[in-house]
Amino acid sequence: MNVPTIGTVAGRQLITDLQSLGLQIGEQGGVTRKGGAGPSDHKAVTIAGQTVMVPVHTADARRSPFQASVPSADGSSLLVRDGQALGRIRFPAPPRFYGLATAEGIPYWKIALLHGRDTLATTVHQTCIRYAERRTSCQFCAIGQSLDAGRTIAYKTPAQLAEVAKAAVELDHVRDMVLTTGTPNIVDRGAAVLAESARAIRDAVDLPLQVQCEPPRDHAWFGRLRDAGADSLGMHLEAATQAVRERIMPGKATVSVERYLAAFASAVPVFGRGQVNTYLLAGLGDTADEILALARRLIALGVYPFVVPFVPISGTPLENHAPPSPDFMKSILAPLGGMLREANMKSTDIRAGCGRCGACSSLSAYER
Ligand code: SF4
Repeated sequence: MNVPTIGTVAGRQLITDLQSLGLQIGEQGGVTRKGGAGPSDHKAVTIAGQTVMVPVHTADARRSPFQASVPSADGSSLLVRDGQALGRIRFPAPPRFYGLATAEGIPYWKIALLHGRDTLATTVHQTCIRYAERRTSCQFCAIGQSLDAGRTIAYKTPAQLAEVAKAAVELDHVRDMVLTTGTPNIVDRGAAVLAESARAIRDAVDLPLQVQCEPPRDHAWFGRLRDAGADSLGMHLEAATQAVRERIMPGKATVSVERYLAAFASAVPVFGRGQVNTYLLAGLGDTADEILALARRLIALGVYPFVVPFVPISGTPLENHAPPSPDFMKSILAPLGGMLREANMKSTDIRAGCGRCGACSSLSAYER
C-alpha cells in the first residue's frame, strides 16, 4: 500500500494534516529536533519519497489521529489515521557525519544537524540578547533549551562549521546549509558572525549557503554577506501584523514590519529575486487574510514568503497554544501557491535554505 504522492491533491492534504495535527510515534528512538531555534519538536519523515518535518513531541501530537507503527525489518513504518492504514513511511537513518567528533571531542551533531532530506543547519550563536528575559524573548523560541540540555554548544567557530560542513557533504551528500543565529547585538544583529562563518565554510567546501538574521542596521551587510559566500538570505518576520508580533515577540517586534520591508527592498537586488526568504508562522493570531496581504507585498518585492504551521514547543510560554487547523493552513497555502505560480517564484529556484528545503511546510506542493 502506498501513501499518496505529494504532487497530488491527496498527498499535499496529507502533509498539511500531518504538520498541523502531528504524529504519534510511541516509544521509537532516533534523532528528532527537540528544542533549539525556530520550529522544533519535530521528526523527519519520508512520505512517498519526500522528507518533511512532522511534530512528534508536542502535546497535540500525542493526541493526533495519525500513528506510526514500530519500524519493521526493512526500516519502514505503517502510517495509520483513526485506525485506518494509509501506507508505509520511513524515518531517515541518522547521517554518517553524526558519528564523527572534532579533535577536542565535540560530536559533529552538536555543531550542525541534518534538516529535512539534505539540508545541513546550525545555530551559530546559541544565545540571543532577546532570550535572556521573558519580557523580550520570542514566546515560541527554545534556543536556550538545547544548550541547557547539552545537545549543542553555545558558539560554533568558523573552523568547526567548515569541518562539519565538509564531512556532511562528503559522507552524506548534503545539498545546502542554513546558518541561523541568535541575535548577538542590535547593530549588525548577527550579520558579522554569519559572514565570518560563511567565508570559512565556502573556503572549505562548495556548498550553497543561506544565512538568517534580523535586518542589520547597515544594509551594506547584505553585500558583505553575499561576498562572503552566502547564496540566499532569510530575515524572518515570524508574524504578519505588528500587534501579533508585539504580543508574541516583544523584543524582536521593536524592528517593525516596515523596517523589514525596507531591508528586503535593499537585499533583493543583492541576492536576486526569490533568493530572499522570510518565515511566517501561521497560527499565532494573524488571520489568513492578514498573512496573505503581507505575502502579496513580499512577493511584489521579490521575497519568498515561507508560511509554516506554528508548532508549540514543550517548555516555552506557548507550549499549550493550539497549532493551526489543517483547514486554516489550506486557506492560506492554496491561494499563496497560486500567487507564487503567477509570480513565477518557485521554491525549486531557491539556491539554499528553508524555502528550498521546504520540509517544515507543505507550501511547495501548492505551488505545483
Ligand atoms: S525548512 Fe528550514 S527549519 Fe525546516 S527543516 Fe528545512 S532547513 Fe530546517
